[in-house]
Amino acid sequence: MATLELASITKDFGAHKVLSGIDLAIRDREFVVFVGPSGCGKSTLLRIIAGLEAATSGRILIDGQDVSDAAPVDRGISMVFQSYALYPHLSIFENIAFPLRVARLPEAEVKAKVARAADILQLTDKLALKPGQLSGGQRQRVAIGRSIVRNPKVFLFDEPLSNLDAALRGEMRVELSALQRDLDATMVYVTHDQIEAMTMAHRIVVLNKGRIEQFGSPMELYHHPATRFVATFIGQPN
Ligand code: ADP
Ligand code: MG
Repeated sequence: MATLELASITKDFGAHKVLSGIDLAIRDREFVVFVGPSGCGKSTLLRIIAGLEAATSGRILIDGQDVSDAAPVDRGISMVFQSYALYPHLSIFENIAFPLRVARLPEAEVKAKVARAADILQLTDKLALKPGQLSGGQRQRVAIGRSIVRNPKVFLFDEPLSNLDAALRGEMRVELSALQRDLDATMVYVTHDQIEAMTMAHRIVVLNKGRIEQFGSPMELYHHPATRFVATFIGQPN
């Protein structure tokens, strides 16, 4: 797994400054949550890290290597979206295997990697089914499985649980935290939900209007909020 550094990332959409000078160093095997109100730039920042969007200025480094100009597939980063984007006509096995098929991996390797991901995500007995036969939580796990088989250095999640009901959301929070420990993975997780941030993160980045208000552990933010915004936002029941 890997460290992830952001240096002076800015993003303008025309005259609209969406991100202003984002500096951040995320440690190897760290679970970092970006939290902030709707429209503050969380998804834009994640898409820039993934390479799906170009920054206006600034650099992105993974394990000290500048990947700012690398194509998304060459960054060693995998993004899990809120809408799972599964192929309804393909089996769960083939949905998870999809990136490996694209990379033309030998069948034996495909089988081994899918089996490992399915085991971690408790999908082994679902591999022959189609997405329509699974629950929302199981479909989300399939989307995560598709990331795992690629062995990324960094996992990115953009509000992956917001389509699930409250009970399932709680369950998936626990599962994702366990997954991070099992894989020893570096994970960046975006949410607008303070409770999710406080319960899942090693460290939290509080974003507001395209700037970092504070970067610290849940306890630091709770007991020593750097700004009034952080105090109000973290203290707010959702
Ligand atoms: P968040 O994920 O925190 O809700 P976003 O990163 O999606 O916020 O959006 C941040 C701001 O950037 C919003 O004001 C949004 O309207 C604007 N924005 C996002 N993508 C585009 C785009 N492609 N073109 C113009 N404005 C955009
Ligand atoms: Mg968003």
